[in-house]
Amino acid sequence: MDNQSILEKIDTQRKFLDENPMLDYKKRIDALKLLYKNIKLMSGDIYDALKKDLNKSETETYMAEIGMVLNEISYMIKHIRSFSRPQRVATPLAQFHSKSYKMPCAYGMVLIISPWNYPFMLALEPMVDAIAAGNSVILKPSEISPNVSDVIAKLISKTFDKGHVDTVLGGVEECTFLLDQDFDYIFYTGSTRVGEIVMKKAAEHFTPVTLEMGGKSPCVVDETANISLAAKRIVFGKFLNAGQTCVAPDYILCDKKIKDKLVEELERQIVLQYSVDPIKNDAYPKMINKKQFDAMSKFITDENLIFGGKIDEESLKIEPTLLNSTFDDDVMKIEIFGPILPIITFDDIDEAIAKINSLSKPLALYIFSSSKTNQNKVLNRCQFGGGCINDTIIHIATPNLGFGGLKQSGIGAYHGKIGFDTFTHYKSIVDKKTWLDLPMRYQPYNKFKQFLIKMFLR
Ligand code: NAD
Repeated sequence: MDNQSILEKIDTQRKFLDENPMLDYKKRIDALKLLYKNIKLMSGDIYDALKKDLNKSETETYMAEIGMVLNEISYMIKHIRSFSRPQRVATPLAQFHSKSYKMPCAYGMVLIISPWNYPFMLALEPMVDAIAAGNSVILKPSEISPNVSDVIAKLISKTFDKGHVDTVLGGVEECTFLLDQDFDYIFYTGSTRVGEIVMKKAAEHFTPVTLEMGGKSPCVVDETANISLAAKRIVFGKFLNAGQTCVAPDYILCDKKIKDKLVEELERQIVLQYSVDPIKNDAYPKMINKKQFDAMSKFITDENLIFGGKIDEESLKIEPTLLNSTFDDDVMKIEIFGPILPIITFDDIDEAIAKINSLSKPLALYIFSSSKTNQNKVLNRCQFGGGCINDTIIHIATPNLGFGGLKQSGIGAYHGKIGFDTFTHYKSIVDKKTWLDLPMRYQPYNKFKQFLIKMFLR
């Protein structure tokens, strides 16, 4: 898209915001209801687009993309009214007589930049939160999942006034131009490398940001874990979307004593969940493109392979693969975005914690253990965005929990009320009554006024 067209879109949104500075909550609800209806009407197109871009099955697309967005819309429709009310807070006696409250206000025009791996969900979920909070949105979906981006653009133009929500299709060039403009909030999901560019650009306009990025999320399995259940849940979280999931367990750190048993159970679960030939399994996703396929395939060698390892260049599929690994291996130097699961062992849990803490802070962490002591040690001593005890990735599907990372894995969070708050500026207001005017703050000062001030402020 050319720069002039992008500027026109921004101009249309500014005019819309001038005319509707605080979009009435009822209109936000109506807009979200229409979005819900149109997603359902266009679900066939959404399924087709995800099949083309990532070979996602209908079930996976509903569970991890459409269903998540519908759920967020339903949550917001239910809560917008109460979230949008001013929130009364206590006023100190020194301010007598007055009323204090926090007044929720939209930021204004929000730029949302999204990635390709959950291209529908990661574009629309933050958009729903931004709309719920009363903002207008310019959405820039990923050029790497073009079929889904086209469907999103159609869905948005069918649902919203262009001044309220609009899309800009394109890649780095369009995104760079957008980042040069003055938005009121930027919400970005993608790699840490591009997150840094977004944050620098935002700083030029003092624009607040939320950055949802990635990292290497560890999965710790200790000797007290229920191994067969752990294997089942790890295989689910790791190989969903063929490992192209920001919160997928990146690698397993397991107690040496249970490694053989864990590997045996992981192999059993891979076959049970994906069949003996996952590449022929039509419900098993592919790598997004050849570049990603090559980047992942190169980590599989005869020396490190435990299980799986078959690749198919034509379909761009890689089998769920288990590797023997150490922290010195190349596969441990990058975020793995594919169905490759390195397994590293430890002798005691303190060693595992020290190793996790020597790397940058991950987006997620999973601990499989029946020992409260070990669970607490890991939760208290490791820093990470969020995670699960005895499960993987499901913490992102709980609207009462925020979702986000810290440092290199992210800044800020969203989902549910936290998502509404992310896109809301709370004005702090003191409404002072006029029938009384306490004199002590005014000049000229004297000992009595000083005494009163000291009484109030201590
Ligand atoms: P990416 O950073 O390459 O692209 C994300 C977006 O940024 C795209 O819309 C793209 O057009 C734009 N972009 C790319 N290069 C740019 C540049 N130089 N200047 C300006 N804009 C640019 O990320 P990706 O490859 O699409 O996604 C994979 C990454 O996203 C992984 O690191 C993963 O962990 C992370 N991720 C994080 C979450 C989360 O919620 N925390 C979710 C999914 C993916």
